[in-house]
Amino acid sequence: MILILAPNTDLDSPEYHLLTRYLDSLKGIEHQIHHVQGAGQRLTEVYLIGDTVPLSRDFMMSLPCVERVVRVQEAYRFLGRHGEDDLPFHFEYNGVTFDQDCLHVFAGLCAVSTPAHVEQMMKTLHEHGQTCTRMGAYKPRTNPYSFQGHGKKCLPFVFELAGKYGIKIIAMEVTHESHVDEINETLEQTGHPTGVMLQIGTRNTQNFELLKSVGRQKTHPVLFKRGFGITLNESLNAAEYLASEGNRKVVFALRGMKTNLGDPHRNFVDFAHVPVLKRLTRMPICIDPSHSVGGRFRSPDGLLDVMHATAQGVIAGANMILADFHPEPSKALVDGPQALLLDELPFFLEDIRIAREAYLQRTALAKQYQTTLTV
Ligand code: PEP
Ligand code: MN
Repeated sequence: MILILAPNTDLDSPEYHLLTRYLDSLKGIEHQIHHVQGAGQRLTEVYLIGDTVPLSRDFMMSLPCVERVVRVQEAYRFLGRHGEDDLPFHFEYNGVTFDQDCLHVFAGLCAVSTPAHVEQMMKTLHEHGQTCTRMGAYKPRTNPYSFQGHGKKCLPFVFELAGKYGIKIIAMEVTHESHVDEINETLEQTGHPTGVMLQIGTRNTQNFELLKSVGRQKTHPVLFKRGFGITLNESLNAAEYLASEGNRKVVFALRGMKTNLGDPHRNFVDFAHVPVLKRLTRMPICIDPSHSVGGRFRSPDGLLDVMHATAQGVIAGANMILADFHPEPSKALVDGPQALLLDELPFFLEDIRIAREAYLQRTALAKQYQTTLTV
């Protein structure tokens, strides 16, 4: 059960103390207090954890400071949808808003290579009006002898170049909690020229200790990738770890499932699950066509499979696209074969615009029919 208090409730007021004293007295029910700072007001939510079934909703509504009472299911308590009780869900980070209606493109390098490559990438993004990117500094690799990213030492030039080209958010995978500290230290040293969305990769989907530590920090949003060999339910429970520790700025990414049945693609493209996730959860949904398709295959119609997969995700309502690009894919240190070329960026963006337009037309059509059809 979640109690939503009146906006800007004074935490020193006698009414608030009365409420917390009552909650302290409840046997077998713990409470956690979360503050959500919006542009104009602070919202306080109290999460009651334990057997809340006997608590009457009307009684809880009558408690001091309480404005709304929301009953939630056990699973994905914070990130899930709970029917009519749904709370609005959106977040803003570094001036960019995320919700289930937005669409942001994060095109960039799977792994940071040279400063020149990073600069070419960011300059091209800037020239095409893009303010988000992806840059990998810490790379989890299947083979222990493979390149594992430049790590901390590339962060200063990556952040400074991002500032130079107006990049507001860099999606960057972390594989250990110390990486978050390194990112924070470098952002501080370089004067916060950009922001970082922390990525949890598919290999770490169920690394619960990593999830807890990334969930405890509330500064950076998290891009959480679906596990490639577990059920959707297991991935959603894992994402909930982030929120249960306090960070609810979570974007859920589809990146394809591991099965040979998807051959010749690297992973089986799972973008038909975009609407499923929007129905089950309140998270913005990202698609990663690069790691799903895994190559530069082109169909006779002239479109790359990566672009077809992107359009399939966007026409189904995706909110974010994570895509690998590289100025010289043959020199990429990781995943060169699936990277798009910088010259392909305007083609890619225009194709996305067409698919997005079609999605908006489809939702308008659904609204139109909603009034006449009952099923
Ligand atoms: C990546 O985005 O570079 C990556 C390694 O993704 P995934 O965890 O989906 O394999
Ligand atoms: Mn990769």
